[in-house]
Amino acid sequence: MRKEELEKLFFDKFNEKIVVSSIEKNKVYFIYDNLNYSQRINRLLISKPNIRSVSNVIEYLEYYFKKIFKENIKILNYVNHNEHSIFIYNGLKYKKKPNSILKQLPTIKSCLEKDKYFQNLSNKKHGLNRYSYFNLDTNYNGIHKKIQIRCNVCNNIFHQTIGHHFYSGEGCPICNKYTKHNTMDEIDNKFLYIIRLFNDNENFIKIGITINNSNNRFSSFPYKKEILFFKKIKNTYIIEQELQNKYKKFKYEPKISFGGYTECFKLDILKSNLLSEKKLFI
Ligand SMILES: [Zn+2]
Repeated sequence: MRKEELEKLFFDKFNEKIVVSSIEKNKVYFIYDNLNYSQRINRLLISKPNIRSVSNVIEYLEYYFKKIFKENIKILNYVNHNEHSIFIYNGLKYKKKPNSILKQLPTIKSCLEKDKYFQNLSNKKHGLNRYSYFNLDTNYNGIHKKIQIRCNVCNNIFHQTIGHHFYSGEGCPICNKYTKHNTMDEIDNKFLYIIRLFNDNENFIKIGITINNSNNRFSSFPYKKEILFFKKIKNTYIIEQELQNKYKKFKYEPKISFGGYTECFKLDILKSNLLSEKKLFI
């Protein structure tokens, strides 16, 4: 059979074009929708060219993924149709069978780097490295299950569902005074601190609350630290709020974002007798 004949037969059958590059014995090599295929002649008109007859499966998957979802993937390996392929999507590794890669966008279920996946979500929702998580790669079990979370500001370790934490945006019950899980009692009698944070370019004050009295309690702040005040006081929450309000005209926004970065003040706040506030010494 001649090339033109096959092309015409294909067009008559599917109303689409192929360009036949060669015919060898009973096999036809052709281009369809920009990809190379090879198929036995007697199968050519039975079904449209697909993943089973394409010459380069990786190219096929990347090409149609882009066409269908308008996004990119990079396939790292392809073994055969029945085994999982590993691919990169949005910077993370996923694993799926070749046939299902084009059925829907990858979800958390097929993600091989759930720790990173959730850390990215967390950075967007809560600020960079505000929280740490424990082995979500192996412990993930749906968004309604509770996971263990470490607050990098007060070092409190608490449990929250993935849905509440990453999607509704609930955070540390001690630091985050605005979530419904907090009561005044929980955040009463904590340490109030006033620290100076600085580097070569910045120099400012942070006021906050922590339950933690260990040396690494401020380790998540991406600056050098000098502790100016650190004391367990009564009504910590109320006093902290009073200070935040009283000195709000000194508010400072650090150039590097971190958990609690909204509670920072210009150095000038020290000239306003902040450190000799009576309420700090009751
Ligand atoms: Zn906290």
